[in-house]
Amino acid sequence: MFFEPKIYSNMSKGTVEVICGSMFSGKTQELIRRLKRLEIAKKKFIIFKPTIDVRYDKNKIVSHNKDCINATSVNNIAEIKEIISDEEVIAIDEAQFFDATLISLCNDLANSGKRVIICGLDMDYLGVPFGIMPSLMAISDSITKLHAVCSYCGDTANYSYRIGTDQNRIKIGEQEEYQALCRVCFNKKKNCE
Ligand SMILES: [Zn+2]
Repeated sequence: MFFEPKIYSNMSKGTVEVICGSMFSGKTQELIRRLKRLEIAKKKFIIFKPTIDVRYDKNKIVSHNKDCINATSVNNIAEIKEIISDEEVIAIDEAQFFDATLISLCNDLANSGKRVIICGLDMDYLGVPFGIMPSLMAISDSITKLHAVCSYCGDTANYSYRIGTDQNRIKIGEQEEYQALCRVCFNKKKNCE
């Protein structure tokens, strides 16, 4: 027989889950929802976020509707590796800001039986795939792509359009600086610039 399921029966199966979408799509809210379930289930978990994200609080992740959960701010993936101990679940918010070493870390963690939850922007304000997010989506076991509502026409929005002229891709968004737009409205606005 080629398939021997019993061989693996004692090994806990790791996974990589990606939650992605535009600004205002409810990504952080979905991440917090999954983590609150772990809290109820008394599972050991840890949440990391890049130090660059100083919205609201350095030691918390907060959704636009003000749900929040404690998080550890880190400068890089090496710091994450140092901090992780025996947690069953490792979550990473704003994953688009980390470098490519996160891809192998996710694989290593999942291969050792951990559940990894990644949350991040899939596209930048120009509509370009954001950093390592496409690669994380490729290696993941599941992807949840969320959508916002277009601020112009009310249709499903995929894009985070930046109001104003700041060209810094790393700028972290607030409601006043970004608008969620659908494909049609995004292209109209871009062509007007
Ligand atoms: Zn629209």
